[in-house]
Amino acid sequence: MHAIGIDIGGTKIAGAVVDDLGAIVRSARVPTPTDASALEDAVVAMIGELSDSGPVDAVGVAAAGFIDAAQSTVYYAPNIDWRNEPLREKLERRAGRPVVIENDANAAGWAEFRFGAGRLVSDMVMLTIGTGVGGAVVSNDRLFRGGFGIGAELGHLRLVPDGLACGCGRRGCLEQYGSGRALLRIAGEIADGGGIGEALATARSERGGLDGHVVGALIGSGDPGAMAALERLGRWLGEAAASMSAVLDPQRFVFGGGVSVAGEALLEPIRAAYLEHLPARGYRPEPDFVIAELVNDAGVVGAADLARVWVEEHA
Ligand SMILES: [Zn+2]
Repeated sequence: MHAIGIDIGGTKIAGAVVDDLGAIVRSARVPTPTDASALEDAVVAMIGELSDSGPVDAVGVAAAGFIDAAQSTVYYAPNIDWRNEPLREKLERRAGRPVVIENDANAAGWAEFRFGAGRLVSDMVMLTIGTGVGGAVVSNDRLFRGGFGIGAELGHLRLVPDGLACGCGRRGCLEQYGSGRALLRIAGEIADGGGIGEALATARSERGGLDGHVVGALIGSGDPGAMAALERLGRWLGEAAASMSAVLDPQRFVFGGGVSVAGEALLEPIRAAYLEHLPARGYRPEPDFVIAELVNDAGVVGAADLARVWVEEHA
């Protein structure tokens, strides 16, 4: 069975025909229109184009936002003008085949669970460390969505009482301490402090600011200031992961997103802080911590597979 997965990102829409082993048969990509109706047109056109090559049984569409438990309505999308948008109904009418809608972090987590770093466990947590922090939870081989469909928003666990303001309207969320944006803020603080921050400060003044490429390159070269920033980030993530274990008890934590290319240098402080904060440490099995395997394709592969699952369960 073939399904189409579509991942609506901030800058591009990626789509693919995916087989039931998670392999991409054909793919497509267009820039993301800013206007909601142009975006809907672009998704419908992509479904048409990808359907040309052969029969497709279902379509999964992943986007950032709150999606209802029926995988049907977008309650709220942060980057697109969708508020209580009946997206499934609109796309099914225009595309003429079953469509399911899924949160993008959930789709990526599901892809890792089925075909990537989580395929050997029944319970996993995935944290996508991009601009923000996305969360996905698989419990007992099922994607956990919560009662209203909007659970597993792990980036908005409160980590610091009265901490930094978050886009969700609260303070102290993990996203403000463990995201790519947080890494740049921490790197800036280390640059301000002099000493090990010297190379960061030089790069910042030469380029007019710190971005992911600059900090990533300095991490890659082992610069002590950039490594210290990564370690602080990892420690926050590890502390948050320990609290997640208290609730979810996963066998494995998977880290994806742009910052995860740091690999073991990111996982090391995560593990250390996790063990320091783990409730009842020493009297329980401990999970392992790994980097995601599917990287760029996780969103489309996961969205397609969730559409396949939906069709099988509703056949
Ligand atoms: Zn928040």
